[in-house]
Amino acid sequence: MDDQCDKCGICCKLFLINLNEEEYKSGNYKTMNQDFGYIDDFEDAEFRGANILETKEDGSCTYLKGVKCSIHNDRPQVCRNFFCRSKDPKWKGMIDTINDAKNIK
Ligand code: SF4
Ligand code: SF4
Repeated sequence: MDDQCDKCGICCKLFLINLNEEEYKSGNYKTMNQDFGYIDDFEDAEFRGANILETKEDGSCTYLKGVKCSIHNDRPQVCRNFFCRSKDPKWKGMIDTINDAKNIK
C-alpha cells in the first residue's frame, strides 16, 4: 500500500539521524563521538554534530539490523516523521536520494 512504510530499511542506510534535545539528553541512544564525552548545551551539541546517531562503517544507522530497525518502538522522532512516499515537499531531496539509490541497485 502506498500509505504504509514497507520497512525496507533503505532510508536507514542513507541518512544521518539527528536526535532532538529530549532524545539527546535521555542518553538512551548511541551517538557519534560519544566516547569523547557528553555536551550539556544542546545547541553546542547540534553544532558539533554530537546529537547524530552513530553509524556503522557502511554509513547505515547503528540500530539497523538487516533491513529492520532494532529499536522500532523507541525510534527517534525524525524516523517517525519521515516517509518516502510523502507528498510533503520538505522531504523531496531525501526521496530523490532514495529513488536514485533504488535505481542504482
Ligand atoms: S520510509 Fe520508505 S525507504 Fe524508509 S523503510 Fe519505509 S519504505 Fe523503506
Ligand atoms: S533508528 Fe531505526 S528507523 Fe531510525 S534510522 Fe536507525 S534503524 Fe532506521
